[in-house]
Amino acid sequence: MSDGVGVYLHMPYCPYKCHYCDFNAYRLPPRPGTLEAMAAGIVEEIARAPGDDRGRQARSIYFGGGTPSLFPPRAIAAILEALRRRYRVVPRAEVTLECNPGTVDVALLQELSRAGVTRLSIGAQSFDAAMLRRLGRGHAPEDTRLAVRAARQAGFDNLNIDVIYGLPGTTAAEAERDAREALALGPEHLSAYALEVEDGTYFGALRARGTLPLPSDDEVVEAGEAVARACLQHGLERYEISNFARPGRRSRHNLLYWHQGDYRGFGPGAHSHMSGRRSWNVAGPGPYLKAVGAQGEACAGEETLSPDGRRGEWIYLRLRLTEGFSLRAFSLRFGVPLDAAYPGVRRQLVRQGLLEALPGRVRPTAAGRWLLHRVAEPFLP
Ligand code: SF4
Repeated sequence: MSDGVGVYLHMPYCPYKCHYCDFNAYRLPPRPGTLEAMAAGIVEEIARAPGDDRGRQARSIYFGGGTPSLFPPRAIAAILEALRRRYRVVPRAEVTLECNPGTVDVALLQELSRAGVTRLSIGAQSFDAAMLRRLGRGHAPEDTRLAVRAARQAGFDNLNIDVIYGLPGTTAAEAERDAREALALGPEHLSAYALEVEDGTYFGALRARGTLPLPSDDEVVEAGEAVARACLQHGLERYEISNFARPGRRSRHNLLYWHQGDYRGFGPGAHSHMSGRRSWNVAGPGPYLKAVGAQGEACAGEETLSPDGRRGEWIYLRLRLTEGFSLRAFSLRFGVPLDAAYPGVRRQLVRQGLLEALPGRVRPTAAGRWLLHRVAEPFLP
């Protein structure tokens, strides 16, 4: 196992709550000092939380949320300082910060760059003004273009743009148009996720009432493939189901997740994974700060994956990657050949057209990529 660890920081506040959002994110309360208090809590957790991850090498740091760009740059700088005290942060570490259009300008981004942020992930989601309103997003398409321009002016040369397809009432052509608008801004990386409507969200309630015109599964697949084609035409390769990058610009942090690497999360609701042991923090900002203040950590629970569970999860995560995995990598990792661990499964999936018939490598077909749960199911305990 490598010495490296990834770090995730959960910054839980947003200026608004999007209609599809079921993340652990809260509308920023008007109370002054809320952001500073949260940042101080996260610094304290990094300083005091126990764990044998101390002193390990950190190659990727990811500020997610929520809307991390709402936080003052000096708060982000203080968190990075605390991380440099806990870990050996490598000199060219990938330090990503998610930002929403309308929350950034050149001066703020310059400060973030000086603090050590090296990569920005900009939540565009759509370039249709009416759709952005329908999604409950508090920005217009022009704000995304301004955010990208500001990022370039501030010197960022590593940008991701997020878009969502399969939106209510949309076609594949509209999804492709959104992707092309994003790609015209020249990002090094694009993430394109299909809309997932969860219970408990505003969209979930509309769906229950039958008033959310969602595209069919086939239409969603068509939209996803249209987005993928647009990315390829712009020189971005698909390296994971939903992620596209220029050569050399894959997200180091996300690759760590898909390679089942170790990562440590700080902040409300943040999850960690260390050598098969998963743990998670208290979700609510108030209870989180209280727990950190009282005991220096806010762990709400943990579980250890069984060896079978870990092996199945490894396969599932690798199947998300375009390259899949080599039979040799599997045997080296688990000390048993794949076909001995799961007799007949690979042949069956190839026969069903879900896995490619490749010597020495396991990779989903185009159809299998969209039915990943079916491909992975026989490998899961
Ligand atoms: S900006 Fe992101 S985290 Fe915040 S409410 Fe919208 S979807 Fe949720």
